[in-house]
Amino acid sequence: MPIARVALPVATARAFDYWIPQGIVVGKGSVVRAQLGGRTLVGVVVDVVDESEVDRTRLLPLRDVLPATLPEDVLDVAAFVASYYQEPAGMALALAVPPLGKAAPRPAPVPVKLTAEGHAALPPRLARAPAARALFDALCAQDGTASVEFIAALAPARRTLLRQWRAAGWLAPAQPTIAPAGERHVLNDAQRAAVAAIAAAGDAFATFLLFGITGSGKTDVYLAAADGALARGRQVLLLVPEINLTPQLVARLRDARPGLAVATLHSGLPDGERHAQWQAAATGAAQLVLGTRLAVFTPLPALGLVVIDEEHDASYKQQDNVRYHARDVAIWRARRRGVPVVLGSATPSLESWWHAREGRYRRLDLPSRADPRATLPRVVLTGNRAARDLDGVGEPLRAAIAARLARGEQALVFVNRRGFSPSLVCAACKWEAQCPRCAARLTTHRDPPRLRCHHCGHVERVPAACPSCGNVDLLPLGFGTQRLERALAQAFPEARIARVDRDSTRARHAFAHVRARVAARALDLLVGTQMLAKGHDFPRLTLVGVLGADNALYSADFRATERLAALLMQVAGRAGRAGLPGEVIVQTDFPEHPVFRALVAHDYPVLADALLDERRAGELPPFAHVALLAAEAHRRDEVDAFLAAAHEAGVALAAEAGAEVTVFSPVPALLSRRAGYERAQIVVQSARRAALQRFLPSWRDALTALPGRRVRWAIDVDPAGFG
Ligand code: ADP
Ligand code: ZN
Ligand code: ZN
Repeated sequence: MPIARVALPVATARAFDYWIPQGIVVGKGSVVRAQLGGRTLVGVVVDVVDESEVDRTRLLPLRDVLPATLPEDVLDVAAFVASYYQEPAGMALALAVPPLGKAAPRPAPVPVKLTAEGHAALPPRLARAPAARALFDALCAQDGTASVEFIAALAPARRTLLRQWRAAGWLAPAQPTIAPAGERHVLNDAQRAAVAAIAAAGDAFATFLLFGITGSGKTDVYLAAADGALARGRQVLLLVPEINLTPQLVARLRDARPGLAVATLHSGLPDGERHAQWQAAATGAAQLVLGTRLAVFTPLPALGLVVIDEEHDASYKQQDNVRYHARDVAIWRARRRGVPVVLGSATPSLESWWHAREGRYRRLDLPSRADPRATLPRVVLTGNRAARDLDGVGEPLRAAIAARLARGEQALVFVNRRGFSPSLVCAACKWEAQCPRCAARLTTHRDPPRLRCHHCGHVERVPAACPSCGNVDLLPLGFGTQRLERALAQAFPEARIARVDRDSTRARHAFAHVRARVAARALDLLVGTQMLAKGHDFPRLTLVGVLGADNALYSADFRATERLAALLMQVAGRAGRAGLPGEVIVQTDFPEHPVFRALVAHDYPVLADALLDERRAGELPPFAHVALLAAEAHRRDEVDAFLAAAHEAGVALAAEAGAEVTVFSPVPALLSRRAGYERAQIVVQSARRAALQRFLPSWRDALTALPGRRVRWAIDVDPAGFG
């Protein structure tokens, strides 16, 4: 009687045995459903054996087998993730299982376009149908067309609407867009050298760091390198950090390589669609697979090249559940498959920068902008304090915006905070609006006026008077996107302004809509958070203003400066991409800080080297390997007791293992209380990765055995910060 050994997504390292009913064929890698403790779970068969240690009569049968099989190398990748990140095998494998919802994969949709009748007939009918109105607006924002990607991303109800409109003659099949002539660039020398170096790696593992300033044409290098792999009949995996970036990149790929079979994978796709895309990758039908971090687990039978765009981006690190880093997993997978991997960035992570300096990665430089008409923007630093009485927007920035508006150019003002103001204080007694569930201030919001916690989602009304002393003079302190938007609307009443942040883009396609309006020159001014920083190419955008950058300098997180540098260079990269010269105005009270000096000089290497020196002195990554034990409970004494015991166990184990690992004392988390949980942590560190990796499993076993059932804890290997 054959037995299937199944890894299930539960918090245990062991697999579970089931007997295989007649008529069901499974092997290693089969995705199956099985019952565990009254629940039906989806799992992966890791082995098929003849005997189980569990008594025959107590074994359950497999429920059924699903139409998906994970190949050997994906099983290996998941096993690596489980062991490296200290996670249960079944949880790591679950990342690789495609969404097998009930929806069967649908046939690919056909692109459609609004007809003249549609343009005339629809608007009067949409007054009381906000969902239909939003869909119509989204279409208008894209020249009236709905691309295949656009349709694929729609909710079923919206897709039904499209079908009805088509039946009414308001939509008609659209001509596929023909790639405009000249879209395929003649690569410049630096690009050609990079492509040649990658091609020379052929079918062997090698890691390249493509260090190219913003606008240097990294995408064309990826494409040319991909051409090489495709010509050998291989598949290419291209990882990008943001869902928001995928439709644009897909459109660009389609333009540049019209015949290419592209599959896209990200968590924003409906399940049926994602499964269809996954299948295309797994069967080898898709030549290029483009996706966010979860795409690193996609089966790719003919993988020949891995590309990671914006490799420094923090969103490659998953922050909950299985805390893996997709860039590092992708490199591991490329090594396992013996294929080259290209990491691209204008501001490489200090880890990658150091590997390149040490010669482990090969650095390829694109030192200038690809478009010969484009020059680097002029960066100007101006004081922050003087701007306080002007709702945060200082005089130099105001004047620069006015000049842009007068010339019919566009400007972007960036502030790293949504809402109206990050705090509300009483002018009389210094009372401050605090979240009742977090050790954090509440942010004031307008439209509707509310106090909101950005950590736990808590919402309350804005008090009419100070709850502590009754004074009615409550002051919003600091500046968020809503306040900036209001200030700019008052200063420039004629300007067409849009705000882009998580609040304003909650509706599907809202962001795409804004982008289309910028491209169509239907907007003059953009105000937004870092959502605006990445990958958008607006030819008439010639001014970028940055407010609130100094906040990051006060952060206790060891990666804060590196992040700020990346963000500033990205935002600055938005200015002046085509023929028009760009300008960047940064409001700061620390113009001598190395971050701002590097920005002015457009010199990331000098900054990266300086930051690496600091990391070396502080024994921080990449010079030390770090893991974090984060714990939380409703009661502070429970967390403290758990971490004291965890610390003691860790110190003992580290001593046994030859003292190569340092276990630091428990400290409160940067956010010491969140959503009613008291939070604290222990940092463990070692100069050698292998020593840390040997220490962690035994420590984890010790932690599992500790009392403290009400304490939630997790180990985070290579944490994004010491949050
Ligand atoms: P990056 O990703 O490095 O910021 P992109 O790949 O977006 O830069 O390229 C910036 C711009 O330069 C794009 O508009 C692209 O079409 C253009 N471009 C890329 N390579 C060339 C080239 N060899 N000649 C002219 N323009 C180019
Ligand atoms: Zn008061
Ligand atoms: Zn809160």
